[in-house]
Amino acid sequence: MSRISDNKDLLILKNISHIYNKDLQKIKVLNNINIKVSRGEMISLIGPSGTGKSTLLNIAGLLEKPTLGSIILCGNDCTKLSEENKTLLRGSEIGFIFQSHRLFQEFSAVENVMLPQLIMGKSKIEAFKKSKELLTALALKNRLDFRPAKLSGGEAQRVAIARSIANSPSLILADEPTGNLDAIAANNVYKIIYKLVKSLNISCIFATHNNDLARLMDRKIILKNGSIYNE
Ligand code: ADP
Ligand code: MG
Repeated sequence: MSRISDNKDLLILKNISHIYNKDLQKIKVLNNINIKVSRGEMISLIGPSGTGKSTLLNIAGLLEKPTLGSIILCGNDCTKLSEENKTLLRGSEIGFIFQSHRLFQEFSAVENVMLPQLIMGKSKIEAFKKSKELLTALALKNRLDFRPAKLSGGEAQRVAIARSIANSPSLILADEPTGNLDAIAANNVYKIIYKLVKSLNISCIFATHNNDLARLMDRKIILKNGSIYNE
């Protein structure tokens, strides 16, 4: 993979615009978005529903190709990468956390954390060891064999956090990860992610409707009508 230069910005979104084509209708969602994310930064992404937060995270996460603009992740110009290299880069550098935990119901907590590691080629023994360590650090040592249905909302989201960092990514993209939790569990999940970002010196974009949480983060990005709004 070609690397541009070593630079402090982990992620650069340059002139990103996005239009969905649906049933002959064009839905303009993002309009010339520019964002730079440094290592170690925890950024809140806020804005009304339907304003394009999830679309922006999906674009940053290389899940959706923007209509216009470029994404530079860890020095790689992603617009120039093959689908295969994009998948590799996504697997090794990005961790996703969603509003619902999206764990596989038929697998245990530890197996859910092992899966992305096995996909990236780790051995079962290595993947199990790392998963157990992560779940233990997140106070889930006694839940390793539990299926998601047997976990509380906060516990399931902690498993999802462990899964998101299982391949030691540089960037966590969290799409309203506390949206389904009560206030105490939401705060706990926020604090865990914040601590991980700072201790591992990685970055996180955290979409939320919770202004109290947004205020605690290093920086705020406000999306309104598809553009960045400066207060
Ligand atoms: P948010 O996360 O801020 O609520 P989204 O990014 O989910 O906003 O959606 C932004 C707009 O794009 C909405 O109007 C939504 O209906 C539309 N949208 C999202 N995904 C698609 C899609 N796959 N096809 C067409 N329109 C979409
Ligand atoms: Mg959304």
